[in-house]
Amino acid sequence: MAHLITLIPGDGIGPEVADAARLVVDAAGVEVDWDVQEAGAGALEREGTPLPGRVLDSIRRSRTALKGPITTPVGTGFRSANVALRQELDLFAAVRPARSLPGIATRFTNLDLVVIRENTEDLYSGIEFERGSEALERLRGELRDLGGFQIREDAGVTVKPISVSGTRRIVRFAFEFARRNRRGSITLGHKANIMKFSDGVFLYTAGAEAEFYRDVWFEEVQVDELALHLVTEPETLDVLLLPNLYGDIVSDLCAGLVGGLGLVPGANLGWEYAVFEPVHGSAPDLAGKGVANPIAMIESAAMMLAHLGESAAAGAVGRGIRAVLSEGMPRTGDLGGTASTGVMARAIARATEQALEAR
Ligand code: ATP
Repeated sequence: MAHLITLIPGDGIGPEVADAARLVVDAAGVEVDWDVQEAGAGALEREGTPLPGRVLDSIRRSRTALKGPITTPVGTGFRSANVALRQELDLFAAVRPARSLPGIATRFTNLDLVVIRENTEDLYSGIEFERGSEALERLRGELRDLGGFQIREDAGVTVKPISVSGTRRIVRFAFEFARRNRRGSITLGHKANIMKFSDGVFLYTAGAEAEFYRDVWFEEVQVDELALHLVTEPETLDVLLLPNLYGDIVSDLCAGLVGGLGLVPGANLGWEYAVFEPVHGSAPDLAGKGVANPIAMIESAAMMLAHLGESAAAGAVGRGIRAVLSEGMPRTGDLGGTASTGVMARAIARATEQALEAR
């Protein structure tokens, strides 16, 4: 039976890499009934919102989505559609594997990192007070009364909530993930010395939960020190567990370590739904030119296939990508080549078919 999957091509390079991923999923021999849903800039223009209800309804039906990036305008009143999607569907865990790939020259080799990012809380909760607004004026007054806190009149404010329940579920998820995938250690990044009551909750809740998972090594480190470790001795790290904002930043750092944003996939998982999307954004500088690297999106599709129980197909896609990269076949500009998105996608699709035949 065909899998029903919501496909959100998204903005910028999204539609181009979405086409590439579709081609490779077809080549992997998996039957899919794609429910294509427009979200992002086009939807905003036509329907007044970048994330219309029909997109969420589609995912509630299919339970699984493959999603391209959606642009979030900087500094405007618009809430990020990516963040809204994660919150609406309670996709509390982002899983972002960053692995060294053959034929990609990087400073470090043999890296095999996984970022697990809490996806719903922290500074991404959307609790914001605009500079000069009446609501912020009232908040400033309350804070002054409550604790003598002074916020400058010309400040804007974003609130950072981190809860015990929100932390507990991501910590359990991370340990279960480590066990299932035979991962030896989890390193938690925090800044609990400065943000005692938000990062502090994350750190202490995780420490308590770790007691139940003695078979997985658990360590905590301040996130600035983690950044240093990542650029000096990343091979000593394994699974990284982070609150939302640090997880976002460290994901891009890890992508850089293994060859760039064009290579790193991601999954957003909750109890009921799963949305697979690359770590990269819409890359407006490349949009419409047919030059984006499709690997991050294709790898995201492979994670989706594994999630759907199509492990042979997922494995073939992974082998197809590695074959194309190691044989120095077509490469996009970010990898030093001149191939188009389509040429690279077709090469990976062919290599995927060959990987299936060779089984
Ligand atoms: P957004 O605002 O949607 O997050 P952005 O341009 O700020 O988009 P990204 O899209 O994540 O951020 O990427 C930053 C840069 O990395 C891009 O401008 C592009 O040059 C490069 N990049 C990202 N993804 C790819 C890709 N798939 N292939 C090649 N280069 C990429």
